[in-house]
Amino acid sequence: MLEVLKLDVLNPATEDIVATVPAATAQDVDAAVARAARAQEQWAAAAPADRARLLRRFAAQVDDHLEELARLEVREAGHVIGNARWEAGNVRDLLDYSAGGAERLSGRQIPVPGGLNVTVLEPLGVVGVIAPWNFPMPIAAWGTAPALAAGNAVILKPAETTPLTALRLAELALAAGLPEGLFQVLPGEGAVAGNTLVEHPGVAKIVFTGSTGVGKRIMASCADRVKRLTLELGGKSPNIVFADADVEAAALATPMSYLDNSGQDCCARTRVLVQRSVYDRFLETVRPAIESVVVGDPSDEKTQMGPLISRTQLDRVRAYVTPGEGIHGTAPEGPGFWFPPTLLTDVDPRSPVATEEVFGPVAVVIPFEDEADAIRLANATEYGLSGSIWTRDVGRALRVSAAVKAGNLSVNSHSSVRYWTPFGGYKQSGLGRELGPDALTAFTETKNVFISTEGPAQ
Ligand code: NAD
Repeated sequence: MLEVLKLDVLNPATEDIVATVPAATAQDVDAAVARAARAQEQWAAAAPADRARLLRRFAAQVDDHLEELARLEVREAGHVIGNARWEAGNVRDLLDYSAGGAERLSGRQIPVPGGLNVTVLEPLGVVGVIAPWNFPMPIAAWGTAPALAAGNAVILKPAETTPLTALRLAELALAAGLPEGLFQVLPGEGAVAGNTLVEHPGVAKIVFTGSTGVGKRIMASCADRVKRLTLELGGKSPNIVFADADVEAAALATPMSYLDNSGQDCCARTRVLVQRSVYDRFLETVRPAIESVVVGDPSDEKTQMGPLISRTQLDRVRAYVTPGEGIHGTAPEGPGFWFPPTLLTDVDPRSPVATEEVFGPVAVVIPFEDEADAIRLANATEYGLSGSIWTRDVGRALRVSAAVKAGNLSVNSHSSVRYWTPFGGYKQSGLGRELGPDALTAFTETKNVFISTEGPAQ
């Protein structure tokens, strides 16, 4: 008899098994693609207003189950409860926002001689979304909601460690009335279910979020079929603090700019660059702020930082830094994947911890001399996802944001993600953009049609 491979989902705060789910095989993916293709034909033929109405109902289902989804995310991913509620709300909001897009997705009429020229935006077909474990719900929705709104079917493969909220979202979609097969969730291993989606001739596009290494391999596989691809990969984002900034405010905002989600955030500001003339003052303020971060039970409303996702991730972080090094806070002992908030001083800017994505609660602080030096250090990375610039000088804010090669910059704040605005990376942080007003067009082909106004040729 064929053994069914199962995925154990662990609570990262306790190491208890929360659930066990079957892992999809290549045959399961084949069958899902066939179902999705059938559902997509009907979905694309439906009136945009009807698609929009169903997506709004899906959003309402998510809203009705927001607390349940948030609690599930706390259990399977160790997210602090406040963040988990925001994440479920982000899914709801993005479904609503994308629903509006379904009714507004239009081509252009371009003036040409001899006839009428129009462009039509057509759905791609079946889209595969491969999601990571760091933000299981929002990242799944960023690919899924606009793809559905633009008339596609979606097969979502969640990360091995975090399939539960994705599976619940699929149930809520059916409860909202979305056609069977239109949005399917297939938990499974990257090398099996993920890879089959990538190589499948019936899948028109892949949206991948995860490590840069796997992203590069997926890009190479997609090349074989010229398959459409969006990549959201790693980051090593700078947090640049100039001497003319409100240095206290910048220092107090620093801990959660890289400790949110225990640092498992591709936008984490893990390279803190501080102008030398205010470096000591900055450290004096940041030290107690890091030492007092509340780390512990993620279901407690007062907790600011929970555990890492897995033993593998904990080992990966420990390979870069020993707990207790540098300026550091505390973490619980005993079961669970805990690592204390850490800020390393006196680090060689070329060392692995200062250049590689650690994906844990670890940042480095490096002094700089002047604006040119800050820009040089900020850009000394293969990544280009996010960054923050702290200054009171408007001219400097504009000059530095023009010079830093990254897709998402914020001045005097650490914000990166808003569903109204585009998100994505320069350089090896990714390819293409998600979210924002153009999100739906990434799930369409543009067809140009010319209609001659001349009579038939004689
Ligand atoms: P990963 O890239 O291996 O996994 C991300 C997703 O891709 C998962 O769903 C996984 O099953 C799938 N996948 C893996 N191999 C695949 C393949 N060959 N074909 C298709 N799909 C495949 O990430 P990871 O191993 O879980 O994490 C490792 C590191 O990646 C982290 O330490 C971090 O640095 C980085 N990471 C970045 C992000 C991000 O948001 N940019 C997210 C997760 C992890």
